[in-house]
Amino acid sequence: MISEGIDKEYAEKILFDLIRLPSFSEKQFGPITERISSELSKIGFSVEYDRESACIIGRKKILGASKTILLSAHYDTVIPVEGWTKDPLSPRAIDGKVYGLGASDCKGGIASILAAAKVSKPKNNITILISGHEDVKKEIDGKLRSGIDIYLQNHKLKANFGIVTEATAKEGAIGILTGHFGKVAVKISAKGVAAHGAHPEQGVNAIEKLIEAYLNIKKELQLEIFTFNGKEYRDTFNLGIIRGGEAINITPSNCTAEFEHRFHPKKNLEDVKERIKQICNRSRVNTNILFEFPPFIAECPNNFKEACARIIGYLPETRITRGGTDANFLNAHGIQTIVIGPGETKTIHAPNEYVEIDRIIECAKILSHTIQRGI
Ligand SMILES: [Zn+2]
Repeated sequence: MISEGIDKEYAEKILFDLIRLPSFSEKQFGPITERISSELSKIGFSVEYDRESACIIGRKKILGASKTILLSAHYDTVIPVEGWTKDPLSPRAIDGKVYGLGASDCKGGIASILAAAKVSKPKNNITILISGHEDVKKEIDGKLRSGIDIYLQNHKLKANFGIVTEATAKEGAIGILTGHFGKVAVKISAKGVAAHGAHPEQGVNAIEKLIEAYLNIKKELQLEIFTFNGKEYRDTFNLGIIRGGEAINITPSNCTAEFEHRFHPKKNLEDVKERIKQICNRSRVNTNILFEFPPFIAECPNNFKEACARIIGYLPETRITRGGTDANFLNAHGIQTIVIGPGETKTIHAPNEYVEIDRIIECAKILSHTIQRGI
């Protein structure tokens, strides 16, 4: 086992402090971004805060270094869900687990990054990007955007390898995510012509028009199965909201629906959006993209996996996921990025969310090793 000299008390203090600073609404972002920024300054990073995207960027340049490693996590969280039996904003350590809102998603990941950056004597330049608006999306012109998406649209970021420390542990065993599905969330709206229910042939039924368009989208885009590492992952459609009609004896003149479609990494986001638009145009149904992220498959270097195995004592399972993280946007920006983090996946966005301290230390050791030895 390799010891990278991680300061456990420091990592715990960061985690506790961050959980105590609520960040489930944009209004709360001030104190937590100040706390993270000042911590980055203290450990020798030059820091900038991008107000528009609510992202914090820390940089450490190493004399003579030619490569840059990017470490990334997000500080915002979902709102506390029903069912917490503990105060979500008062962190508590019980049997090696720290309970609190955002413990796994993704404040434990930030603690790993800061603990690694504090002790490491890097051979590589390090960029640390701590994003906001990952769980609390920002609405711009009716479309929801991730903070990192906004940041990367306005700034060129370069790195040779990226690691996002979102939760990847399953029952205490850390995994590596080397790919994510893509996603598009769409609002579709159909207009019809109202008529008396006794004479529907005199009107145009907006609900039927919309359902027909939706079923055509589902049929023509096809739900494919993608096999990765011997495991099958299927494309999905989820029709989440449908609204229309006023009474059973009136032919409805309006109907709207919102659905999301997740698709495997061999598909292309722009193609998927274009197909949806074409099908809707054909049916004279309007489309509005509400949210999107591109899919990716990244290379995870063997020496990185081997280093993980030496540090944590087992070879982490390599998986992909249908969920999205900031790694979608980083890969689309040209930075080869994988996901490996301390959080316990089953607890994220769930009551009594927790992270195991041992996983935070293991993850910090992996990060520290990576920035010291390179990739
Ligand atoms: Zn997250």
